[in-house]
Amino acid sequence: MTKATVLSISNLSDSQRLMRGIALINQHTVEPPSSPSLHSFFAKQLELIKLVLDIPFEAVFCSRAGHLIETPSNNVIVVGATLAHRDEVYENVDSSLSLRMLKLMYTCFETQTDNFSSDYAVVYLNYSSLDAVLLLETSEPVDAINLLLLKSLTVQISIKFHSFNLFKKLKTTTFKDWLTKLPNRSEFLNQISKAKSDYQQSMIIALVDIKHFSDINDGLGLDIGNSVLLDVANRLRQELPKGTNIGRITGDVFGIIGNEKDIAAENIHKIFSKSFQIGPHCLPINVNIGICSLTKDGDSSDFLRGATIALNTAKASNSENVIVYDTQMEANSKERLQTLRDLQSDFESQKLEVWYQPQVDLISEEIVGLEALVRWKNADGDYVSPERFIPLAEYSGLIVDIGEWVFEEAIKTLKMVRTSGFSNLRMAVNVSVLQFRDINFVNFIKQTITKHQVNPALVELEITEGVVMDEPQIVVIALHDLKSFGVTIAIDDFGTGFSSMSYLQKLPLDRLKVDRSFVSDLNDKKNKVIVQSILSLGVQLGLVTIAEGVETRSQASMMLRMGADEAQGYLFSDAVRSDELMSMLINYKVS
Ligand code: C2E
Ligand code: CA
Ligand code: CA
Repeated sequence: MTKATVLSISNLSDSQRLMRGIALINQHTVEPPSSPSLHSFFAKQLELIKLVLDIPFEAVFCSRAGHLIETPSNNVIVVGATLAHRDEVYENVDSSLSLRMLKLMYTCFETQTDNFSSDYAVVYLNYSSLDAVLLLETSEPVDAINLLLLKSLTVQISIKFHSFNLFKKLKTTTFKDWLTKLPNRSEFLNQISKAKSDYQQSMIIALVDIKHFSDINDGLGLDIGNSVLLDVANRLRQELPKGTNIGRITGDVFGIIGNEKDIAAENIHKIFSKSFQIGPHCLPINVNIGICSLTKDGDSSDFLRGATIALNTAKASNSENVIVYDTQMEANSKERLQTLRDLQSDFESQKLEVWYQPQVDLISEEIVGLEALVRWKNADGDYVSPERFIPLAEYSGLIVDIGEWVFEEAIKTLKMVRTSGFSNLRMAVNVSVLQFRDINFVNFIKQTITKHQVNPALVELEITEGVVMDEPQIVVIALHDLKSFGVTIAIDDFGTGFSSMSYLQKLPLDRLKVDRSFVSDLNDKKNKVIVQSILSLGVQLGLVTIAEGVETRSQASMMLRMGADEAQGYLFSDAVRSDELMSMLINYKVS
């Protein structure tokens, strides 16, 4: 910027400054993404900021390498910078930025929210799984006009970041996967086309999914996760016969096209029979496999879809880890779709119900709490199991609305039982991971509790281990927020998931629910040992423990002897309709 322009800008009135800035921003909105380089994209944005702001500033764009930059690393590096930091482009931020800048940047990556202050601005940019942070520091205080301009600039940059990446993605769809250098999904589809055109008998597509890959990523870090993917790719390359096509279809799903004999499921399993040694970690890896036979006719994407349906069926099955596609599966998925439509329409016509199951203290056997459980009676008058419709509601996103409705119903009921003399009962409500992804979730919970004037300490949210593993950061932040508001948190179905202890310790938990599958068979030695270790884990973490699915007197006394504090199950009471709840509470007798 020349001295003359600085002078003339400083002579402008506030409204003229604002108009000028907005005009400049608008001029730069439509930018054909001529430069495919990320570096030049960020350089251009910095030029624009310089043009619009009339105060001195230094700025850097940072991103995780391996996400935006095609290097297999997860360090955060500088991808664009103004003068003071110019030489640091492509350097690791830890070695180039001040402590204050570093802290602001890492917080921004973590919370994914923007932060504006009188002498800095931090903006989160995101496209799909790619993210970057713009950090800007000024040596003069940012006044109201510059703040306004800065905010509209960053909105523009966010939009441009999105279109830049979209464009880049469209341009590079035929490229290889950056990490493993294997063909990516669209290249794999081309390979299916090719295999079809030189059709030979007995050709199949196999999709191979690494079981519990997200546990590796969350528990040991993305670098280890990436190394596992690289090693898996290398092993597939080495072990499968020459001429077999291999691709990486999505995160932890690999695709193989080859002869039925060569890529038979037992051959694939054999490839994974030896553990993977990643640095100090020796990781056993198991896989789910979905198979679809290739025929001469049909679309490439249909075959990939068939293999995906088979893979999803294998993933959903507790017993089979190899499934071969057949047309019945499609029928099942059509039926699921119909169920979902019925659920949606019945939910909208307020036909869902909430039932309540008591939770008792194991020593006094008095009712200390209730768990709200959703019920759905379909058009045929049958109750559909939540085990069936909750996953569908989660899959479709409908669970967010259903979950909010269940929560409000439960809070109203809590208020009702309290005014009827049961003032110390707590109310537990199940929360699914999708609800945590809803940005209004935390506020909704707080507002509903406040609106109905119930004591937040009597409200408990039940989350499963899966919730914690799927979205660790969002969940940890939301739970801490809710906990400081006063609600309590229980970890549900404990023992069935794969939570790492480090995550559990980060969570503000109050209660640990021992999964009913362990309680149902305490005669089994292995189950008993598991229950014992879960209970001692509860003690170590300072949590109250509750046994689920207690159906018999002997299960209740065994759980009490092993140290469980509370229990829930048919022995005490089934879940009851809300209009039966009061009489159940009044007539409840310890059997
Ligand atoms: P959950 O949270 O583990 O709920 C306890 C389940 O165990 C309930 O099944 C309950 O009826 C059943 N149960 C209770 N006592 C016994 C017993 O003594 N023996 C046996 N075998 N089972 C017992 P339900 O109602 O079918 O719910 C199944 C699952 O559906 C729940 O498991 C929960 O994960 C989910 N769910 C239910 N309501 C909601 C909801 O409002 N929101 C969400 N997100 N999930 C829900
Ligand atoms: Ca539950
Ligand atoms: Ca449970």
